[in-house]
Amino acid sequence: MEDIEVQISQNSGNMTSGLMTIRKWPLAERRSRAFKRTFKIVGTVYACSLVGLFVHILLLVILPTLFLTTIAAVPMFMKFLGEEVTFSEVKGPCSYCHKGVKFRPYLDTKFGTEMTIQCPECGQTTKAFTTA
Ligand SMILES: [Zn+2]
Repeated sequence: MEDIEVQISQNSGNMTSGLMTIRKWPLAERRSRAFKRTFKIVGTVYACSLVGLFVHILLLVILPTLFLTTIAAVPMFMKFLGEEVTFSEVKGPCSYCHKGVKFRPYLDTKFGTEMTIQCPECGQTTKAFTTA
């Protein structure tokens, strides 16, 4: 874990600086992490589909979903495997509620030049940019 400085985009168009906590993943960890995350998603879909055993009409929807999920597991795994660096939070000021908050990653934790983050106080999303 390490902290790096990032720019947080404000709704006025200005930037303020914030501190982002990032984590670098060695290949071995990345692989087991990708396995776990893929398994969790695929497992959840499979578990939910068990309802089809009792409500047979739903099988019309469930079977294609299972099929697609099974196919999607490979690209999903590759995506997680490609996340060499992820971020967990960004400390900085929120331009909507004007509080110093710890932003959370929004939908994606992959570290890049532009990341979407969400304020836990007001739920607004904004962008964080790396300064490099
Ligand atoms: Zn806010």
